[in-house]
Amino acid sequence: MPPVTGVYPDAAGDAMENGMTGSGYFRITPGGRDYIYREEYDMAEKITIALKRGASCVGCDIAVVNFNEHLFTLLTYADIVFAPTLLDVKYEDLKNLPDGSVTIGFYHGAVRNSDNEEMAKVMRDKCRFLIAYGACAHMGGIPGLANATTRKKILEQVYKKTVSTVNPEGTMPMETYTDEAGHDLTLPAFYDRVFALDDVVDVDYYVPACPPTHDINMQILSLVREFVEKGKPLPPKGSVIASVKTLCDECGRTRSRTISVARFRRLQDLKLDEDKCFLEQGIVCLGPATRAGCGAPCTAVNVPCRGCMGPTSGVMEQGASMLSAIASIISISDDEDKLSEEQIERLMDQIIDPLGCFYRFSLPKSQLGRVVEDVKEE
Ligand code: SF4
Ligand code: SF4
Ligand code: SF4
Repeated sequence: MPPVTGVYPDAAGDAMENGMTGSGYFRITPGGRDYIYREEYDMAEKITIALKRGASCVGCDIAVVNFNEHLFTLLTYADIVFAPTLLDVKYEDLKNLPDGSVTIGFYHGAVRNSDNEEMAKVMRDKCRFLIAYGACAHMGGIPGLANATTRKKILEQVYKKTVSTVNPEGTMPMETYTDEAGHDLTLPAFYDRVFALDDVVDVDYYVPACPPTHDINMQILSLVREFVEKGKPLPPKGSVIASVKTLCDECGRTRSRTISVARFRRLQDLKLDEDKCFLEQGIVCLGPATRAGCGAPCTAVNVPCRGCMGPTSGVMEQGASMLSAIASIISISDDEDKLSEEQIERLMDQIIDPLGCFYRFSLPKSQLGRVVEDVKEE
């Protein structure tokens, strides 16, 4: 695919070429198309918006409600035509709309079952621009950690093995069931793995974070408003609406030029220096491998970054990127030129739950996720 050309003025007012320069907010993915003009779309004065959730904790719905008073401004140039959390609507209301009649669709949550997939496809058909909103739609998110196990094991655990389950007959959910009166009842099929939104439909834009922060929402509103009212082009298809920098660049904690860590610890194992970089104190923080744009709210309140903004620009494998960052800061004594495998293993044993730590939000989109899939299939 040819690289995207063209210049897009970012939120800081700087021009960015191919999304790799300037201080700003859009990554232009290889293979993406040039930026998008309003004139290409025969649009009415007011645009329409639909919101739909898949396998979601509903935190992203709350993030939309957190547009606060800006929702009223949005309503001056947009009508919300479908949003189960905000409006009294039924799925049929969305299904009955003509294809392509909704200007922008926000889908949040992962794709976990056949209902999620069906509604993702309906949203794709109805919406001219489809946004993967939040970490679950972007990369599979926390539900995606289920890809480390199987459908069978999950159902066994939930319906038979938890301490609070009383199920002597071992009853399990069935996708279809006919009751005594002859009524057919159906449940969505529960898939063996979790998908990100773009695994099942074509996606136009990605809005990362768990959930997207108020500042990120304001960027989206500004982009949409300027597109509708001033005809300013939208960023190219495939853009991630976030910074091209790493989280460490916007973190307020102090850090040395070089970091050297002899052992890893957990927050409860030390008296934390509240100004100093977590990694320097031996606490795993995913800042070096995470995209900026959230404003680093977690590190500001003494919580290390868990990486919900996803990998940095140009990197697909966030977990491997963080492992590489960790490998580069492990201290080696003067009389060693490298650590033995045993020493490395001892160090890595100090990191509790490495899969959840390094792939908390990105397992379904990672290479490791695919390896896990292969092993499960064997
Ligand atoms: S991204 Fe976070 S807040 Fe949004 S649905 Fe997923 S888990 Fe919930
Ligand atoms: S590693 Fe974490 S604490 Fe350190 S500068 Fe980066 S984001 Fe901040
Ligand atoms: S600091 Fe890290 S975990 Fe917190 S919102 Fe930003 S990317 Fe997500």
